[in-house]
Amino acid sequence: MNKLVSILMAVFFIIGIFTACSEKQNPPKDSKEVTMLKEKIAKFVPVEITYDETLLSDREKVVLEKLYRASKIIDELFLEQVYIENDQIKADLISDLSNKSLLTKNPELTLELEHKLELFNIMFGPFDRLEDNEPFIGKNTKPLGANFYPVDMAKEEFEKWIKDNSADEKAFTSEFTIIRRDNDKLVAIPYSEYFKDKLTAASNLLKEAAEYSDNPSLKKYLLSRANAFLSNDYYQSDMDWMDLKDHNIEVVIGPYEVYEDGMFNYKAAFESFVTIKDPVESKKLEVFAKYLADIEKNLPLDDKHKNYTRGSESPIVVANEVFTAGDTKAGVQTLAFNLPNDERVRQAKGSKKVMLKNVHEAKFEKLLKPIAEIVLEPEQLKYVTFDAFFNHTLMHEMSHGVGPGFIKVNGKDTEVKKELKETYSTMEECKADILGMYNNIFMIEKGVYPKESENQVWVTFLAGAFRSMRFGIGEAHGGGNAIIYNYLLEKGGFVFDESNKKVRVDFEKIYPALKELCNLVLTIQAEGNYQGAKDLIAKYAVNSPTIETLRIKLENLPVDIKPVFAIEEKLK
Ligand code: ZN
Repeated sequence: MNKLVSILMAVFFIIGIFTACSEKQNPPKDSKEVTMLKEKIAKFVPVEITYDETLLSDREKVVLEKLYRASKIIDELFLEQVYIENDQIKADLISDLSNKSLLTKNPELTLELEHKLELFNIMFGPFDRLEDNEPFIGKNTKPLGANFYPVDMAKEEFEKWIKDNSADEKAFTSEFTIIRRDNDKLVAIPYSEYFKDKLTAASNLLKEAAEYSDNPSLKKYLLSRANAFLSNDYYQSDMDWMDLKDHNIEVVIGPYEVYEDGMFNYKAAFESFVTIKDPVESKKLEVFAKYLADIEKNLPLDDKHKNYTRGSESPIVVANEVFTAGDTKAGVQTLAFNLPNDERVRQAKGSKKVMLKNVHEAKFEKLLKPIAEIVLEPEQLKYVTFDAFFNHTLMHEMSHGVGPGFIKVNGKDTEVKKELKETYSTMEECKADILGMYNNIFMIEKGVYPKESENQVWVTFLAGAFRSMRFGIGEAHGGGNAIIYNYLLEKGGFVFDESNKKVRVDFEKIYPALKELCNLVLTIQAEGNYQGAKDLIAKYAVNSPTIETLRIKLENLPVDIKPVFAIEEKLK
């Protein structure tokens, strides 16, 4: 080989390396828009939501499929309720994505449109629910009253209308009407009329589901809810939902929560939960129910304050989610729901709490475990388990129903809630969390749980506290957790290691410290001691230095999960 050739080869070789390197260093750059969309989407980790079909008979599988199809309509209904432009925006995105000539002219556009559609589907509209509804498509801000009221209607106009037309008040403030303009008048249109086509289709699917339901209480609910979609009267079907008995499929479908109506909180948004009851966990709840009096007796609280009459609390059901739709699916995913909201039904039958076990499992794996790995001392990581996490949540819910409720203050009959005023929810959530641990230790003593699970109770709670406190301690759950964390840290039950900035549990000191805190919180509640509650919150529900240090370390973790439903893959 002559010299020239070898020099040329060497030059080509070097150029080759350079090209390869520069490719590696500069991957095709995302536009600013795409980067922003990607960051927003990355806050939600996708998780497959699966369910155990073997728990259902063949006829129940048909019921499930019909309920899934009805829920797909609920998705459309809610999308329309959120924003008047939603259907158009979605149609435009889909049509642009199938426009070959547009996309070949501008290849970067494909990525942008795909991400826009994905985020639009997560948020049910062009507004970022994690960022105060900041728009990510277009520049329009979200109307305060969503699409429940005319876009150009101010609060005052609505209020004035009711003042001048008092006969309209009931229809205008109803959860189940849409307000529209009719020339120079405002009118209230019932959902059953405004959404007639979609509600009729959903109603028919519920009737078909009822045909395949062999459980009489479920059949009754499905039929009365199918009728409610057409009559706009939801009362009887809410009553029937409370009467569901011995059923495998737990379903709610209809207009429920009013938060989407940011103007008045009057109008109910459509949502649906299609779930299957969890037989193992339901048994566990029966066991707790048997120990209810023992649990009350065992509370670290003066005997004179103990309360054995809180027996008839709301029932709790543990279920696994198969599919959700509408309001509940937008943005952050629900772990449990407590329905119905109709006060007349609550008075007559109470309410029912449904806890979604597989959603807990998904959040445990994708959100809690990564938090634990960042905040906990590595040798204690092995004590962070899903069982301990879920058992704590179960006992948290049970514990809302023990301890002081109706109390006497200065000889006068009253309630903890009334006496503690704005401090009540933080104190009550704090109570449920500390008793969640305390009562589970009691269940270990009773042999319901194995002795080895004791360390898991403490360490799993500690990691979980950081999940709650991530979103701020101004809110009841985060505030309650800050009280517990700061108090137990002060008493040495939790230990922060300055050298590696990690926390751990001191297994010797934790139980007595927790017992002391339980006594403090329960006594404040029993005495209706408002000042005591305020003092405790002022001292401990604070962003202490170690909380702040650890919270900063968690900033880049995802915020929630994005459910990918197995049933959707199967039936689409
Ligand atoms: Zn709670």
